[in-house]
Amino acid sequence: MHHSTILTGIVHLVGAGPGSADLLTLRALRLLERADVIVHDRLVSEEILALANPAAERIYVGKRRSEHCLPQEQINELLVRLAHSHACVVRLKGGDPFIFGRGGEEAEAVAAAGIEVQIVPGVTAALGCAAQAGIPLTHRGIARSVTFVTGHTKDGQLDVDFPGLARSLMVGHGGSTVAVYMGIATMPALAAGLAAEGLDLSVSAALIERGGTPRQRELRGSLGELAARAQAWTDGGPALLIIGEVTAAHLARAHQFAAVAV
Ligand code: SAH
Repeated sequence: MHHSTILTGIVHLVGAGPGSADLLTLRALRLLERADVIVHDRLVSEEILALANPAAERIYVGKRRSEHCLPQEQINELLVRLAHSHACVVRLKGGDPFIFGRGGEEAEAVAAAGIEVQIVPGVTAALGCAAQAGIPLTHRGIARSVTFVTGHTKDGQLDVDFPGLARSLMVGHGGSTVAVYMGIATMPALAAGLAAEGLDLSVSAALIERGGTPRQRELRGSLGELAARAQAWTDGGPALLIIGEVTAAHLARAHQFAAVAV
């Protein structure tokens, strides 16, 4: 039998945060600086890519609702292939790699190929949006839990636990907050599903576009109003819906946002 030593690199699944470079972690920044190749998608900003090793190869793999440049399976294979020719492979993903980013699948595929994989967390959209909008996702006496759900559909159906979500949002249940990712297109269906479970659509909500960046926009109102207005309001940037009384509390408004140079 012939033995040969194949040197393989390490694949780092790195969270890039919500968009602003100053919300990267130092660990993410250091990996970008020494990356040999960077595989990224649409949610990663130019401002962040500009911090990367200029000699690093860049591969854009797209990703946008229904406009996948490269199917997930091929992204997984690409990462494995790159690890056979590059020491430091950085797979850069918006927000946190393990929150609705299919990072778990990428990590599994890479590990299954016998390649070392390391995960660098990132500020997920819900946290970036909430911070900049001054919405505490949990707040004493108002919300004691927060749930992250996706508004993405599976075979045309929203894949959410309507009874459970509706119940958690109802007054008298101790209060909770729901953050909906990828929820603009399906917001009317989400609202209708919650209403069918008895939720009063006058519950407060906030829609935050490009949260955590200097171009953040917000729309506040009742869930019913937002569901009716969201399509016309959005200008196509990534947007997150936050539902729950914390969005009405007008607590600390964190609008004194100032970008910190990295
Ligand atoms: N892994 C990412 C989420 C990927 S799913 C994370 O942890 O943030 C993509 C969805 O995330 C978008 O449809 C949107 O709902 C949300 N999102 C990502 N970046 C955002 C931003 N800057 N502002 C508001 N929502 C954002």
